[in-house]
Amino acid sequence: MADKPVRVRFAPSPSGDLHVGNIRTGLYDWAYARHTGGTFVFRIEDTDRTRVTDEYIHAAIESMRWLGLDWDEGPEVGGGYGPYLQSQRMHTYREWTRRFLHEGHAYHCYCTPEELEERREAARAAGRPPGYDGRCRDLTDADRAAFEAQGRVPTVRFRMPEGTTTFTDLVRGEVSFDNRLVPDFVLVRADGYPLYTLAVAVDDVLMEITHVVRGEDLLSSTPRQVAVYRAMGVAEDDLPQFAHLPFVMGQDNAKLSKRHGAITIGWYRQHGFLPEAMCNYLALLGWSPGEDREFFSLAEMARDFTLERVNRNAARFDMKKLEAINGDWIRALEPADFAARITPFLQTAGLVAQPPTEAELRIISGGAPLIQERTVRLTEAAEMLGFLLVDDAHFSVEPEAASRLLTPESRPALEAAHAALAGLGEWTTADIESALRTALIDKLGLKPKIAFSPVRVAISGRRVSPPLFESLELLGRNRSLSRLQAALDRIPTG
Ligand code: GLU
Repeated sequence: MADKPVRVRFAPSPSGDLHVGNIRTGLYDWAYARHTGGTFVFRIEDTDRTRVTDEYIHAAIESMRWLGLDWDEGPEVGGGYGPYLQSQRMHTYREWTRRFLHEGHAYHCYCTPEELEERREAARAAGRPPGYDGRCRDLTDADRAAFEAQGRVPTVRFRMPEGTTTFTDLVRGEVSFDNRLVPDFVLVRADGYPLYTLAVAVDDVLMEITHVVRGEDLLSSTPRQVAVYRAMGVAEDDLPQFAHLPFVMGQDNAKLSKRHGAITIGWYRQHGFLPEAMCNYLALLGWSPGEDREFFSLAEMARDFTLERVNRNAARFDMKKLEAINGDWIRALEPADFAARITPFLQTAGLVAQPPTEAELRIISGGAPLIQERTVRLTEAAEMLGFLLVDDAHFSVEPEAASRLLTPESRPALEAAHAALAGLGEWTTADIESALRTALIDKLGLKPKIAFSPVRVAISGRRVSPPLFESLELLGRNRSLSRLQAALDRIPTG
């Protein structure tokens, strides 16, 4: 095995949007393949088409692409071991089922679900392990014929060998299972449907997978999987190597699950997280490049990733930390890139046309640098730049800001600002700033905060906004003046 080229697969069963735990696995699979110069295989485990739909498969592919994870073999790219959708490989599973039956690795089981349940109950009551008791292991032809005469349709069960299953997990070290605790399991349902344990093992072998890097929740299925590999005739030295990644827990210390709400990758995309930040943060859930480095790109992860550095302990998902990393990534973007990334969020908020107009593009590219430093999620851009983009008929001042700052005491500052700006020659940030400082601070003798806060509220509608003078320049003279006038008009006189 050691000298074989690395082939590592990511094999999700997308029965919904991929969640952050799945993606963490996919990311580690990818990084391991890239670090070793191996092949990254993306396989969709969709034998259960009642749960895994075309829509979810498509979304999974989309999410991987969005994150920047490319695959060498798999859906859309093909490869020499396809097809890579298990639903298109049914004949292969049927073929192996026939061989297993023929060679005695599997047998027909005629027990009905009701009988199985009854015996499970009885075993539990007697303190015995409740797994399958092997009743159909050694049926004679006559037994089988009798069952079939009763109209029973069999499942196919794998005959678990005796002994122990021991393997060296590349994260957890040596792991051993007593096969007595691994009952014979169903490979094919009565309706002819192959189950996960069959398909996963058959495909790992046929796709010549060398490394199975996946979540710890699948650790307990490993002895079954190894037994199927062996039944397929794989030599001990050629068995894939396993690496089970630590659980990801929610902030409440429970295993991350649907209950935690924000767990699908689509949610993060919609809520303004960058793919770079998602990869960076998910990488840290169980791995780190060392030297306390916490900010790195996919390329750096690929360069530095080793399984030795994967943690055995559960990782905790921490939204605050993810946000901090997202903010770091936002600050690291080129300004034009940042402007391009916020544009779809401004469109979703209804502030920008699709495609944006010239005027909108000018405001976006001028406004983006004003907010880039303080943006944590891209979605915030709509809130921060909305006042520059919204059409004047829909502009409004937050009531709380109005009641605190658009008061009779503010009238002199607002009037002076209006007059100074109305008479201004050049409409540039520098000229605007100097005109306002002269009029409000030098002439009226106001403190800057007292002088500019009402102007800010009049212009932006809020008490917190991007830098005022730059905002005024972007907004333009006419719109600025009409907002100042509107603010004055609402102040009660007297
Ligand atoms: N398809 C399985 C799942 O999504 C994972 C298979 C594997 O990685 O072995 O749970």
